[in-house]
Amino acid sequence: MDNYEYCDDCKRIFIENSSCPFCESTQVSELYVKSPVNILGTKVKGRVFKLSSDGIKVLVVDAQNNKSIRDYDASKLKKVL
Ligand SMILES: [Zn+2]
Repeated sequence: MDNYEYCDDCKRIFIENSSCPFCESTQVSELYVKSPVNILGTKVKGRVFKLSSDGIKVLVVDAQNNKSIRDYDASKLKKVL
């Protein structure tokens, strides 16, 4: 199982690496289940539900409070506070 990390500078998410593949920052932190994330290019937010080598499952709650679990590639996600 691969560990995922996020960049403290640009907040992009990637498979464990010594530096960020997007901005080359070396300020990276481990990404955990339940971390809040945003789907890049959208206003959709959710929380990490499961991390696997195939990708990241995200629990998304929409404005009507409907919950769904969606699969994303790490490159489609961004860590939020
Ligand atoms: Zn970065």
